[in-house]
Amino acid sequence: MCVFCLSDAVEIGGEHIWDAWLNDALPEMLYRAVERPTLDSPAIEYDANRFKMKLPVVCRACNNEWMSALSLKIKDRFSRSMLDGEPFSLGTKDGVILAAFVFMKAALMNQSLPGAFFTRDARERFRTDLILPPFVQCWFTAYEGAARMHTRSQSHIFSPNPGTRLYGLQFFCFNYIVGKLALQLLAVRWKNIPGARSALIMLDAPKNWNLAAPRFWPDPGIFVSWPPPECVGDNMIELFVQRFGAFPY
Ligand SMILES: [Zn+2]
Repeated sequence: MCVFCLSDAVEIGGEHIWDAWLNDALPEMLYRAVERPTLDSPAIEYDANRFKMKLPVVCRACNNEWMSALSLKIKDRFSRSMLDGEPFSLGTKDGVILAAFVFMKAALMNQSLPGAFFTRDARERFRTDLILPPFVQCWFTAYEGAARMHTRSQSHIFSPNPGTRLYGLQFFCFNYIVGKLALQLLAVRWKNIPGARSALIMLDAPKNWNLAAPRFWPDPGIFVSWPPPECVGDNMIELFVQRFGAFPY
């Protein structure tokens, strides 16, 4: 079944993990591609000259209509930042679009983990109104890696230990890096443990990341500039990807 509606998902093809326009925007050359669906799975590295990975998890109508329209908006507004690091200032309108894009990719990639993290209601509401579920947060950073082009899509789920104040909650962290723009989403839900039902919360990011990774969703009500005052290089990107789940709660 389609991630976002009740129609059947296509059996082959489907939604591009990396939007097809990247293939036209980049020169014909080999890129080092790294696929690592979760933190626990081994990284698969290979040379590719096309971004072809697709997930057959959505129906044709969703893929060709609203998802395609959203991807096109992202291309128009953010492709130069992704490819060349062109600065931008994010206001409410573009913040909604960027957060919707990260959530769309997160919901798609979540299919590679056991069980859907987001409820069907939440995913259908997203399709009809582009409304993100509550308690979802998004950050961005600027990735200054040595490679000309870097893409990464990675998610992990973590649960606070028994005895800690957040026991009973479960968090889903999704990282989506296209070129220089690195996006991160964090969502929370109850883990269905009898007697353990902490209030849902929005977890604070580790403070030492404040300058490098400002939060842009929920709408902060001010313009947020990219690139932020501090960038993330090859020595730090792994720490960024894993910054949630690594410290005790
Ligand atoms: Zn659909």
